[in-house]
Amino acid sequence: MSEVKGYAATSELSGLAPFSFRRRELRPDDVSIEIEYCGVCHTDIHFAENDWGRTNYPVVPGHEIIGKVVAVGNDVSQFTVGQRVGVGCMVDSCRQCASCGQGLEQYCREGMTPTYNGRDRHDQLPTFGGYSDGIVVAERFVVRVPDSLDPAAAAPLLCAGITTYSPLKHYGVKPGDKVGVIGMGGLGHMGVKFARALGAEVTLFTRSRAKEAEARKQGADHVVISTDPDQMAAAREQFDFLLDTIPVPHDLNPYLDTLAVDGMHILVGLIEPIEPTIHSRALIAKRRILTGSLIGGMPETQEVLDFCAEHNITCDIEMLDMADINKAYERMKQGDVKYRFVIDMKTLK
Ligand code: ZN
Ligand code: ZN
Repeated sequence: MSEVKGYAATSELSGLAPFSFRRRELRPDDVSIEIEYCGVCHTDIHFAENDWGRTNYPVVPGHEIIGKVVAVGNDVSQFTVGQRVGVGCMVDSCRQCASCGQGLEQYCREGMTPTYNGRDRHDQLPTFGGYSDGIVVAERFVVRVPDSLDPAAAAPLLCAGITTYSPLKHYGVKPGDKVGVIGMGGLGHMGVKFARALGAEVTLFTRSRAKEAEARKQGADHVVISTDPDQMAAAREQFDFLLDTIPVPHDLNPYLDTLAVDGMHILVGLIEPIEPTIHSRALIAKRRILTGSLIGGMPETQEVLDFCAEHNITCDIEMLDMADINKAYERMKQGDVKYRFVIDMKTLK
């Protein structure tokens, strides 16, 4: 076991503070990683502050991890010491069910093991995330980071990136499709980039006129101000896909009306009851589809990194010192970050 430094929340109100803990000895298929960068996801805040009522304290958040391999177990075949690698939202799964067999570990029948606030399947010890200087992960749940990617800006690809890439790819977005991206935070700005890279005509839906110029800079062809009834009416039956990144309850009905026949509304940000309720007419009358998608499997997580290297896509980031994490959380709650904080783990030493 090796001692690592990190930052943990110890209660709902504690905020994040320095915390030392141990990482396990390498199992035969384990990779030991010295963490260089870790992105800061909204989910981290939800767990640190127990918003979902299922935090096990102490919690060390962080699931957008980039680092270098410093040791490998005897059976590791895909990674060597010195290689740059990434770890995302999960660190294990049953590896045997139908979903795992298809490389869809995020949909594991037994439930994936989350990178933090979970329990290791073998020793039952808590999992601790990437706000730390090292982590030990089974090689199946580690991905290669292409040399051409800026490693800090690649960190958010492990959650924000794969979450938006996976459904666009899975549902077959292709050149000429009309894709609407709803919301432009960490997820939405990546959704705009991916939809564009896949050849779609991209529209950003936002409540804020202030985001219009920024949306175009990110690659959106059009912007619809969702609070303007005239603009929403003009968008009726236009879209093949809507990628909905809004993380709080919101009325889906006006958005469903903007879908063409057979159009699809994909939820990736909201994990709560949908309110207000949906009128089924919006689905039935135009054979529309409402669906959702959770991160991506390990093969697809590798694919998104390779896709980003090929298309020169990275996340827009603001570098953060570890000691400023609590301030960063406050700013994120105000929506004051373009578009992801990434912790420089050198600042932890
Ligand atoms: Zn995340
Ligand atoms: Zn499984």
